[in-house]
Amino acid sequence: MNVIPPLDLTQQFSLIQAEVNEAVSAVLASGQYVNGPINQQFEQEFAAYVGTPECVVCNSGTDALYLSLRAYDIGEGDEVITTPFSFFATAEVISMVRATPVFVDIDPDTFNLDVAQIEAAITPKTRAIMPVHLFGQPVDMTRLMAIAQRHNLRVIEDCAQATGATWHGAQVGSIGDVGCFSFFPTKNLGACGDGGAITTHDPAIARRMRMLREHGSHVRYYHDEVGMNSRLDAVQAAILRIKLRYLDRWNSQRQAVANRYQELLQAIPGVVAPRAIAGGLSVWNQYTIRLTQTQTDGGDRRDRIRQALQQQGVSSMIYYPIPIHRQVVYAGLGYGAGSLPWSERVATEVLSLPMFPELAPEQQEAVMYALKDSL
Ligand SMILES: *Cc1c(COP(=O)(O)O)cnc(C)c1O
Repeated sequence: MNVIPPLDLTQQFSLIQAEVNEAVSAVLASGQYVNGPINQQFEQEFAAYVGTPECVVCNSGTDALYLSLRAYDIGEGDEVITTPFSFFATAEVISMVRATPVFVDIDPDTFNLDVAQIEAAITPKTRAIMPVHLFGQPVDMTRLMAIAQRHNLRVIEDCAQATGATWHGAQVGSIGDVGCFSFFPTKNLGACGDGGAITTHDPAIARRMRMLREHGSHVRYYHDEVGMNSRLDAVQAAILRIKLRYLDRWNSQRQAVANRYQELLQAIPGVVAPRAIAGGLSVWNQYTIRLTQTQTDGGDRRDRIRQALQQQGVSSMIYYPIPIHRQVVYAGLGYGAGSLPWSERVATEVLSLPMFPELAPEQQEAVMYALKDSL
């Protein structure tokens, strides 16, 4: 049986193997393994790609979010509004700076923060909004920025899954105060290890972040505040420079994969394909469908379908099985069952199908037949 994996990084690597080997060898021979000149080159190239004057690279997407909160002095007693339907790191960093995450429910069509519900969650303690462009689909940043401006809030974009996505032509990460990116291998622009970056229009904030990522120091061995060690390896910077040149091509291949899925799945009952909103260009980090439940399903329809798919060689993933406000660690925040109904319902319905640029039309047809078979 031909197994279709959820993603396949090996095909991408074989395309760029020769270039990568050469660039990595050059870094190894240079003896400059951290903070080398290649890091600055990548920072300039990534800033130019996103369309901001500044880019600060760091060790991960999580660090990028954390450094952003620190750079704006967001901490104890402050609230940050975000989505409960994301990877845990989004909320985790808010807790790491001792601020409080305030969760707003999602729009089930886009899986993103329901912008219409943000204003009701704002209190005198609110300092920032942290939208996540989940699965590669941009949030409605026009409405979100208007709310932020009206209430004088910072906007920290979590772009970890959306490198290259645009909102009315503007790259995500260039719209809010800062954009936070992850270069974890499974992201659209993935390194061969961990990595992250922050983009911003504000040179003062970029300077503060550069200091924080270097143990709170502008001049080595002189420390103005408590920071951290969050560097990007020169080897990763070298690999990312190469992959950045392919990113738009890979993202349009993902777009083509998504379009084919859209056609193949449109008429299958009980399967809700993801919907794009006008103005946004998704880069499809995931292709996530909803398997709607009925009263007679006994609540395990998705599990049954997932197992049946697996038996036919089709891998699928559940992003995310438990919304963040219902995680054990946040029991103390007091979000009871049913408090954010769409996030909770969607968490029981979502299934992410195989998605990567090289996924072949025949493989997608096999996914469709397997899915029809398993319903
Ligand atoms: C991956 C991811 C992160 C964290 O990035 P790391 O590089 O793994 O630390 C944060 N937010 C979202 C939405 C992510 O998908």
